[in-house]
Amino acid sequence: MKDQTYCWICKKTADSAEHRIKKSDLVTLHGSGSYKNTLIMFRGDQQIPIQGPNSKIVKYNKILCANCNNNFSQPFDKAYEIFVNYILDNENLVIKRRFVNFRDIYGDEFENGQRNLYKYFVKSFGCRLANDGHLIPKDLPALLSKRRFRTGLRITFSINEDYLDFKFNILANGPLRTYLPLQETRPTWLEKWRYKQYGRTIPLQYISNESFKWLTTWCWYNIQR
Ligand SMILES: [Zn+2]
Repeated sequence: MKDQTYCWICKKTADSAEHRIKKSDLVTLHGSGSYKNTLIMFRGDQQIPIQGPNSKIVKYNKILCANCNNNFSQPFDKAYEIFVNYILDNENLVIKRRFVNFRDIYGDEFENGQRNLYKYFVKSFGCRLANDGHLIPKDLPALLSKRRFRTGLRITFSINEDYLDFKFNILANGPLRTYLPLQETRPTWLEKWRYKQYGRTIPLQYISNESFKWLTTWCWYNIQR
């Protein structure tokens, strides 16, 4: 029997499987299904047909509890949905300007919307780490309930020009890469803080990305610029 797993956010029993490809993205771009073998997931060398937006193939293992996956993270999911709707409605503008103004997306509540969007990507990134059996940096679950926080996670966006004229609507999880930390003779404040958080021996450096059409969101954990 499979080992009991625990929700990486609250440590209670994990009984809920988060989507690795967001359900609302699948429905927005490809409809509610059935996809009847028209939608394919590429994983390594494999090509696996997706039957519908609730197909097991588009979900992670059970790595969250139902409360964290549904209630607790609902504002984060909502902020993401508002964000991608804005991207879809303003594709040409965003591609031309190469930036987004969060006030245009969330209005006067943009500080809150932007923070919740950040937390959505933290959830997505944490699920990726948990599913693949990697250690979750402590600051990630800790920041989800906070208004102000300090974290090793940087998030950036990029435009994948190869996908601009692509006739398919891509939804993708890029590769998860892990790195050993740089050896430094004198630790920086970030190093000291990191050691305090995790101890010296745990090499927590990750890079991963996810794509919605031509927009790629990157997560850089403990990667120095
Ligand atoms: Zn939980």
